[in-house]
Formats: sequence, structure tokens, C-alpha cells
Amino acid sequence: MVFNWLGAERPRITALAGKTFLRGFRVKKTLTALLFGAMLGGIAAPVVADMQDQLPDMGTTAGGTLSINQEIAMGDFYLRQMRGGAPLIDDPLLVQYINQLGQRLVKSANSVRTPFHFFIIRNDELNAFAFFGGNVVIHSALFRYAENESELASVLAHEISHVTQRHLARAMESQQRSVPLTWVGALGSILLAMANPQVGMAALSGTLAGAQQGIISFTQSNEQEADRIGLQVLQRAGFDPQAMPNFMQKLADQSRYATKPPEMLLTHPLPESRLADARNRANQMMRPAPTQSSQDFLFAKMRALTMYSTAYKATADETIDNWLKGNVREQLAAQYGKAVRAYEEKKYDDAHAVLQPVLDKTPDSPWFLDLMTDIDLAQNKAAQAIARLQKAPGAQNNPVLQLNLANAYVTGGQAAAASRLLYRYSYANPGDPNGWSLLAQASAAQGMRAEELAARGEELALSGKLDQAIGLFSNASSQSKLGSLEQARYDARIDQLRQLQQRFRQFEKS
Ligand SMILES: [Zn+2]
Repeated sequence: MVFNWLGAERPRITALAGKTFLRGFRVKKTLTALLFGAMLGGIAAPVVADMQDQLPDMGTTAGGTLSINQEIAMGDFYLRQMRGGAPLIDDPLLVQYINQLGQRLVKSANSVRTPFHFFIIRNDELNAFAFFGGNVVIHSALFRYAENESELASVLAHEISHVTQRHLARAMESQQRSVPLTWVGALGSILLAMANPQVGMAALSGTLAGAQQGIISFTQSNEQEADRIGLQVLQRAGFDPQAMPNFMQKLADQSRYATKPPEMLLTHPLPESRLADARNRANQMMRPAPTQSSQDFLFAKMRALTMYSTAYKATADETIDNWLKGNVREQLAAQYGKAVRAYEEKKYDDAHAVLQPVLDKTPDSPWFLDLMTDIDLAQNKAAQAIARLQKAPGAQNNPVLQLNLANAYVTGGQAAAASRLLYRYSYANPGDPNGWSLLAQASAAQGMRAEELAARGEELALSGKLDQAIGLFSNASSQSKLGSLEQARYDARIDQLRQLQQRFRQFEKS
């Protein structure tokens, strides 16, 4: 199962990286080349190595069960691979939203053994998947197809339940008994293919047709269990259980009328019986008092539609038109959509004019503050953005606004202030590449070469480029004063990364 999608994929990802995800957070050209050049080496190994290998020693326990720690380690490995190879949306607002929604559901779930993290991949195909270590990934297309927050939550609840029921681990264990192939490598390829379906799906379909179908496409009983448990989670968290069969119905309709079934159905098969079962169970449940989508859902949907998909321009326009005639929340989200649209079209004065009145009414809205910052920065008004963010209510405690402020500091020539803020930020949020990327920029602006290299090293490590990361830390160490605290810190980091490399080697070894 060698599929060389990386070569074909490269130009598209490079183009994506050049695009601004968080406004103003541009990946530097040199760094882009470094990242994506490195990607080829970094990911090719597990993809190519999988078939001929023996099952790696996962150190399974006597009962043949993966330990939770092993699951978490594998999850960490795949997450870094995914960061390196898939168009993850690192938009702080959307990431914060999807994690808040996800955590609300996780709180209502039983058998939670790992922390959960939620991610969004920029992709116009409908899909969602979960992998080891409580990592749940949705495609940005879900924001288009989910008409309300309960529908979006129903997909997350289903994925969360695959994790809490340990379907992946159980499938892996049964696979281990029956087929001697490197499960880990195969799973890695499949995850990456799912993350990049334009190129990967052809290969994945071939894979699914073959003997490996059992590994990633869950069994029907797994699917029904994830529905059943997911429904309970959904209802306990205060969402409408009917949203699950409703959304499934939508998927089923889509597969009936489209030439090609939604990708989601390949990874989560949906026979009529599954739909009927979910419908029956939902009918037996108490329906909470009319559940309205939260304001945040409407903002998130609008942002995803207007910023992260060129294919959905008509849908975005239609949604804006409809919501302008809708309830108060919808009208507000429509205003936001109009402002984002104007900003995207570089009509900054228009964007400002649309946004200012709604910002005046809710001066603590991260959605409005974030967009107004971008508008200001695009018009070289960094000082104005900084002043607004400094006095915005609650900004101190909101990571999104802290990132915005750091970004404004960097753009406004206050690199030292940016660094101070970003050290704190990255200490609290070490898994967010945005913080490291900005810290690298702030350090560079102050001529602090070692700090810049270290921050870039952290960024590379997050996308699985451990060799390159270690190289940068070595460089940073050699540029530091001999015996200094900084040098000790960089050397310690090198040791940690080497240990990580060691641990990951069992997932990659050929
Ligand atoms: Zn499923």
C-alpha cells in the first residue's frame, strides 16, 4: 500500500501555508520551505514502511490490551504527523470554539480515560474521525452541513464515544491477533489520507476494499455503539438528541443523490438499520426544552464559511441573507459575516463600518475584537489595536485575545512586549504553534537569534520534525553563552526531544 500522495500534495499545502490562517499570522517564506521540505522525509517513513513490517513491539500488557499511556503516546505521534502533513486550521477562535463544545460533551461522557483535544482540518468533504489519545478531528465542511449546534455536537459525541468505548484499541488488538501487519504504520497512512482526501481518498478507497478494511472503518456494531453512547452524551450535555438521526438522514440523502457518497460514510458506514436504530432511540429520549444554537456556534459557522472555504461562497452569501432576516443572534452573526467578507475582499473601511456598531454593543466579544484587530493591522493602525485589546474586558484571561495582542505588538514594532506576553502564553499553551511562530518573529525582530531558533524548534517539533527541531536547538545552544542558564535549558530540551524520538521510533520502525 504505497501511495505517493505527498508528492502530488505538496504544491497545495504550500499554497495553503502561504495563506493567512489567523489574520496576520503569515508563515515566513523561509520557514515554509523548511517545514514542507522537511515534511517529505518526515512522513514518508511510516507511509512506505507499513506493509512488509512485522508488528512493532508495542509492549502490550499480558491481556493483549493497549495501556492508556501507550494510546496517549500513539496519539501524540499521530497528532504531530497530522500537523506536518494536513491542512489543520490553527485559527485560535475556531479552535477555542470547537474545544469548548467538545469539552462540554466530554463532561457528560463516561469512561473518559484520556484528555480530549479537538481539531479542524480545512476540507470541503464532510468527515470526522477520532484517533488514539482522545484526539478528535472534524473537517471544516461540518460547519457548512450542520444547521444547528446540536447537529455539530452529535458528530462530536459519536466520535467521543468511539474513543471512550476504545473501538480503535479493540480493533487494533483483534487485528493484531489475526493479521501480521504493521497496524500502526497502516493506521498512520490512513489517517493522513483521511486528512487529505483530494489525493488520499483514491488510495484509501483501494485500501478499504482490501484486507485492511476492518482496521479503520469501524464495524457496524462499533458504529451503533458509538451512536447509542453518543446519543446519551448528547442529551446529557443539553443538546437535542433528534439532531443525530437528522444529521444522519442528511448524509444518507446526500449519498442517494450524489454521484459519490460522502466520505464520512466510508469511515462510518451508515446502513438503513443504523439510521432507524438512532431514530428509535432518540424518539424514546426526553427532548430538552427548545435548544437554540449558541451565539458562538453561529459566529463559528459564519467564520468557517467565509474564511476557510472558497467552494462555499454561495452558501455563505445565502446564509448571511437568511440570518439577516432571522433572530437577534442570527442577525448579529450575519453582520459579522458581512464584516469578514469585506475584510477578505480587502475593503477595510467597509469592514470597519460594519463591525464598529456591533463591537460597541459587545466590547468583550473575542470574535469582534479579533476581526477589528485584523482590520487595524491591515491599515497600519497597530497602536489602535493594541490600545483596544489592552482595555478589552476579560482580555487577560482569553488566550485568543492574548494572541491577538501579541500579534499587534509584533506588527506594531513592540517586539519586547510581544516576547514577554508570548513566554507566558507558550508556557501555558505549549501545543499551540501560533504562540511559537509569533515568538520566533518577536525574537527575530529583537535580534535574539538563539530564542528565535528555539521557538522555531518548538514549532517544528509540534509537526513531528524532531530531527530538524533538535538541529535548531543545538544551534541555539551553541549561540548561547557557555554555561549559561539559556544553554542549559536548550540542552535539556534536546534531551527531551531525543527521548520523544526514541519513543516514536517504535511507531515508525521498519
Ligand atoms: Zn463512527
